[in-house]
Amino acid sequence: MARRAGGLRFGTAGIPLSTRKSSYVAGVERIRELGLGCLELEFVYGVRVNRVAAGTIKDAALRHDIKLSAHAPYWINLNSRDPEKVVASRQRIVQSAQIGALCGARSVVFHPAFYMADPPEKVFQTVKDNLVETVGELGQGTLEVVLRPELSGKAAAFGSLDEIVELSTQVARVAPCIDFAHCHARAGNFNSYNEFTGVLKKVSRRLGPQSLEEVHVHISGIAYGRAGEIKHINLKESDLNYQELLHALVDQHCSGLVICESPNLEEDALLLQETYHKF
Ligand SMILES: [Zn+2]
Repeated sequence: MARRAGGLRFGTAGIPLSTRKSSYVAGVERIRELGLGCLELEFVYGVRVNRVAAGTIKDAALRHDIKLSAHAPYWINLNSRDPEKVVASRQRIVQSAQIGALCGARSVVFHPAFYMADPPEKVFQTVKDNLVETVGELGQGTLEVVLRPELSGKAAAFGSLDEIVELSTQVARVAPCIDFAHCHARAGNFNSYNEFTGVLKKVSRRLGPQSLEEVHVHISGIAYGRAGEIKHINLKESDLNYQELLHALVDQHCSGLVICESPNLEEDALLLQETYHKF
């Protein structure tokens, strides 16, 4: 399948379901066979890739022209009451960045914190201070890695659009992971061409137009209630207006990675990619 220079690449969160062997190298090969363009390494239950394996993943990705990103473990809360858990959270981000870099990943996505009933401004400051420390702890070999706090889907989880954009303006090497399904699930809005365009324009205005040349986007179908996200579902079972979303991404000239997190992974990634190519 022809890929544009620049433009958006589409891929899956973790290896495609139809991968014959459960390994990242096989996953990269399967992404290529499917005609997709990227893969997010899921370190969500721990960083279980060693340095040697990371090198083979990097080689496979280069060979097949597949771009990689990494998702840090779920067990991160930079606003934990327990100082040891905060330190462990920072270490999980650092470790994900270090192993991710060895795999050739350019972005590390993570869920920054829970509010724990604290005022949002206080949580913002705590998260920011810890991210500054984390960036200082990254060390050699990660210079190309961008840390990407993810727009959260739950009301109790820190990470509104404004919060992650603001963090990105204040901390070096931090940029948003724009999860449009979560953005929609937080309040039920953000589901039209104008609203999607508004999100992208805000990012461009606050972080500069070049930020849209290297976006990191998550998309999936989503079920939600009053507290926000309930679970990810397939696009066609959900109300997410993915056609208008893709249209907005095209019209704002976005380039970068779109990671599909629907349960059917590659099926919806291909649906998104096909829809994108129609515009
Ligand atoms: Zn996530």
